[in-house]
Amino acid sequence: MTAPSLFNTGTRRRAEPPAATGPHSGLFANVVFDRPLDTEYTYAVPTDLVETVGVGKRVEAPFGRGGKVTIGFCVRVTDQPPSAAFETKALLRVLDGDAIIDDHLMKLTRWIADYYLCGWGQVLHAVVPAGVRENAGTRVAAFVEPVPRESLPNPLPSVTPQQKAALDKLKKEGRPLEITQLARIAKCTTGVVAGLVKKGLLRKFSERIETEAGGARGLPGEGEELAAPTPLAPLELNADQKRVWEQVRAALHSDGGYKPFLLHGVTGSGKTEVYLRAIEEVVKQGKEAIVLVPEISLTPQTISRFSGRCGNVAVLHSHLTDAERGGYWRRVATGHVQVVVGARSAVFAPTRKLGLIVIDEEHENSFKQESTPRYHARDVAVMRARLEGIPLLMGSATPSLESWSNAARGNYTLLSMPNRVESRPMPAVKVIDLRHEPKPSGKHFAIGATLEKAMRDTLKSKGQIILLLNRRGFSTHVHCQACGHVAQCQNCDLALTFHRTKAALVCHFCGYETAPFQNCPSCSQPGMRYQGLGTEKLHAEIEEKFPGSVCQRMDSDTMAKPGSHQRVLDAFRDGLIHILVGTQMIAKGLDFPNVTLVGVVNADVGLHLPDFRSAERTFQILAQVAGRAGRGDKGGQVLVQTFTPEHPCITLASNHDFVTFAGQELAHRKEHQYPPFHRMARLIVRSEKEEAAGAFADTLAAAFAEATKRAQAGGAAVAQVRILGPAECPVFRLNNYYRFHFQVQSADSGVLHTVLRDVLAIAKPPSGVEFQVDIDPFSML
Ligand code: ADP
Ligand code: ZN
Repeated sequence: MTAPSLFNTGTRRRAEPPAATGPHSGLFANVVFDRPLDTEYTYAVPTDLVETVGVGKRVEAPFGRGGKVTIGFCVRVTDQPPSAAFETKALLRVLDGDAIIDDHLMKLTRWIADYYLCGWGQVLHAVVPAGVRENAGTRVAAFVEPVPRESLPNPLPSVTPQQKAALDKLKKEGRPLEITQLARIAKCTTGVVAGLVKKGLLRKFSERIETEAGGARGLPGEGEELAAPTPLAPLELNADQKRVWEQVRAALHSDGGYKPFLLHGVTGSGKTEVYLRAIEEVVKQGKEAIVLVPEISLTPQTISRFSGRCGNVAVLHSHLTDAERGGYWRRVATGHVQVVVGARSAVFAPTRKLGLIVIDEEHENSFKQESTPRYHARDVAVMRARLEGIPLLMGSATPSLESWSNAARGNYTLLSMPNRVESRPMPAVKVIDLRHEPKPSGKHFAIGATLEKAMRDTLKSKGQIILLLNRRGFSTHVHCQACGHVAQCQNCDLALTFHRTKAALVCHFCGYETAPFQNCPSCSQPGMRYQGLGTEKLHAEIEEKFPGSVCQRMDSDTMAKPGSHQRVLDAFRDGLIHILVGTQMIAKGLDFPNVTLVGVVNADVGLHLPDFRSAERTFQILAQVAGRAGRGDKGGQVLVQTFTPEHPCITLASNHDFVTFAGQELAHRKEHQYPPFHRMARLIVRSEKEEAAGAFADTLAAAFAEATKRAQAGGAAVAQVRILGPAECPVFRLNNYYRFHFQVQSADSGVLHTVLRDVLAIAKPPSGVEFQVDIDPFSML
């Protein structure tokens, strides 16, 4: 069944613009291309393109050595000739009838290029889905319409009865029809219609239209479509929700423009209901809303909450085809969609009258894009809200420390919902010190005696269990007992993980796989040891210990197929699964009232990584997974196994005390000049040749020294720039590349940018060497 709200889009007309041939008009167009260079190229506009050329449209122009015909975006049209003396080449074609990037998105993408130090053309290229760029999901169709009375041939030619019937049908329709469509309605061949064109009674023209098949599926994979939503009635707000909603409502009703809110609401405090009210309000005002959620939360449960209440909802997820993505883009651009729900790229939805942006789980790392342009969707959303002058509602139970300190400094308005709905208590959290757990018969188990007993009790009372272990695979460490050799990836400086189901040793970074070995590849001795605990081994232990219960593993290995995630969650909701084991994938957003026990198998995973955010991440994941317990009337408890029970992020997470944690962690960050107090950028140099990477890293070091000197001479002494590096990256070799990095820090983001821009201008990498700039980096490896 189709969801009419998603498909009812009508036909968008776009004339096919002609190719240029004529002389120069005196106008010039600036064009940017999908290249790292942040340069605008000026082209002369031929007279026959004057009507069609425009900012925000794609054009074809000769570019680079040899003048290869290349597609770029027109970013400026001017009558000022370029100052350079060389001859300006002419634009070849304008590809779009209407601009595909509006004024706001032009400004936003320009800001992204400036802030993230990449090419404007690269950003535009990334923002517009391939399906729009390639016109996927559209086709050129032949239409006919009656020739106006004054242009009819005189005398009128005679027509056959079939032709007469077709002519009447078309007139009755009162709009142009596709030739095939008219033939179908008039029950004749297309030859009959062609005859009418030939006789001068009908006019034929071509237009690009959407194909029906370009329609979008509402849900990940499988081709099943979003069922027509059952409208859910708004819930009666509780006192906390009311207080928060009043403030948001006031912002939506004032003409006050940009107004960012940070909603800190504990897990189960009912944040979604506040988002829904805000979205409904905006839609009522005839405007649109964008809702950003982590990709993993794009479940039918989430989607139906929005589509049941808020007009036409488009869902952008990663399983869409290019054509579907293109179709959505065009539907949004033509005003057929009121609410866009999606992961990070939805922040670029081409809405016409944006009234609100909502970001759920604003602390989520997946909002950061790890390829060029390396933007953070939350920060882009803040800028977009500012440019469009609208409210922005960011919510989380564990806000990012960046947002938390922005709220503390008054940049965002803090809204808080410290209690769960219907006075449900937060679940009791018990920390279990693994150093003191009894080890029966000396054998090491992942599940200690205390957790095992709690699991048995829970299953007996018909409750359900979620177990978190944030590590995939079976054994995470394979080494030789004789010589100590560790099984390592051939391409990366990373240990291989043994996957039993696959019967392979796998690199979790590059995907390299090799057969497991009995004898050590280094010293040929037998007796390789398979150690370390992953979800696969945990699953096996549970099946051994709880033979009568159904256990399901949920991690990126078992959930690779689109739709599998949903199938498991449905089965869990229906009680067909008793124990759900998984990586952080299971920690987020799930609302299952019958989950009365959550177990964290090893809270220390990730706590000791060389990354200044490791404590923050550990706190977030513990608080989030604990939040899955006790969401129903039966209450719930959480057991956390750890070797470091005294670590503040473990004790504070078990007390549900985000505020204290944030205060302590921020003090630590301040002392060590880490974000959010200092801005950070990371510059990575990589090459398949170690010496080449090293040599260019040294060149960059010299460029940094020069640029810093210059910045200080320019009066930037107020804010110091700290440059750490070059150093080998924590994972030196990744995917066959040797990598060096610089960490650049400054209290002043402007100075940081000046220095980096200077360095990028001075230092050009030789062939075979690449570098990447990452502003506000998340990945530190
Ligand atoms: P959060 O996102 O803050 O963790 P949710 O928005 O998922 O919390 O809400 C948790 C549960 O509480 C949901 O099942 C929701 O339907 C319910 N809920 C929300 N607001 C109310 C309310 N005012 N009265 C009763 N139940 C509510
Ligand atoms: Zn690898």
